[in-house]
Amino acid sequence: MYDSFQDIEKPTLLLDEDRAKKNIDRMVAKARKNGVTLRPHFKTHQSAEVGEWFRERGVVSITVSSVDMAQYFVDHGWTDVTIAFPLNPRQISRVNSLARRCQLHLLVEDEGVVEILANQADHEVSVWLKIDAGYHRTGIDWRNQGKILSTALAVIESQNLEFRGILTHAGNTYALRSSEKIREAYGESVDRMLSVKGMLASSGIKAAVSVGDTPSCSIVGDLREVDEIRPGNFIFYDLSQFHIGSCRVEDISVAVACPIVAKHLDRRQLLIYGGAIHFSKEYLRDPSGHPFYGSVAILDGGSWNAVDPDSRMISISQEHGIVQASDHLLDHVSVGDILLIIPIHSCLTANLLGGYRTLDGRLIEMAKL
Ligand code: PLP
Repeated sequence: MYDSFQDIEKPTLLLDEDRAKKNIDRMVAKARKNGVTLRPHFKTHQSAEVGEWFRERGVVSITVSSVDMAQYFVDHGWTDVTIAFPLNPRQISRVNSLARRCQLHLLVEDEGVVEILANQADHEVSVWLKIDAGYHRTGIDWRNQGKILSTALAVIESQNLEFRGILTHAGNTYALRSSEKIREAYGESVDRMLSVKGMLASSGIKAAVSVGDTPSCSIVGDLREVDEIRPGNFIFYDLSQFHIGSCRVEDISVAVACPIVAKHLDRRQLLIYGGAIHFSKEYLRDPSGHPFYGSVAILDGGSWNAVDPDSRMISISQEHGIVQASDHLLDHVSVGDILLIIPIHSCLTANLLGGYRTLDGRLIEMAKL
């Protein structure tokens, strides 16, 4: 079907570079307009080359999700790095080495970990308290003022730890399906963070506020109440973001090129080379409530601007994907063709596929962590 992808022989992550750069431009402009620091999460792309696209647009501070990823980006010249995963006490010696090479920001939510860090940090690090403002994955409950205050004080009293502020991730927005609901969820989590900030201020503690998830940062216009935003997924977007309402299909900058290996006219299905080891097992539900693992992109003018509403990847196993296909799709494809699938969650798909191919066929490397 898509002749320009003739040399693709296995599942390959295609990246529309222009689109990705436009997505960065939009978020950079929004952060500037609101006077907040954009500290994008680089776990989405995990690529030094893609990181440069941010640097060219004035971004100087970044977020990563592991010590390994921090090391990779510090090796590529980044000097202001937040590891947005609760500090793992078994990695303190590597954290110390990194802190010698960059302004390192760490997240803590456990007083025991603060004590270990206070005893073992041999270089100055910035410390943020992770707050649970409603997602219930990590963090100290925003209402637990006693614990927030005592943990902040433990940081402040430690020699090499500089208390910077409070940080949350409102991942609960991913379950929502309208701009209105996203705005409400964002407003609620920011109100909670500001109440924690106020409580700390009344004890004489100054705290910056860091938030950031792609749905909120894409949909909410006024971000002025916080100091920093950390969205990551927005550089690629994906089907989840489209269903939430964070983006249009025309903003999604990645699609997976999958070879068609069988065509079953009797059951109106295509078997593709592209399974859970390429996409993960993340799914959405179709209007009848059935899970699906990706949508078929329609190529138009060199990129994908729409998905086929009647064709979906309905089943996925390790390497196999089964696409329930529309009559139009079945009529127009043959075995050996490439089918473009928009992933449900681009961060996981990029991590699994390990690299990118731009629409003009150039390969872009990712970190090998
Ligand atoms: N900050 C933290 C702590 C996260 O866990 C994540 C994503 O999981 C982000 C920021 C980026 O959010 P998103 O993936 O919605 O862009």
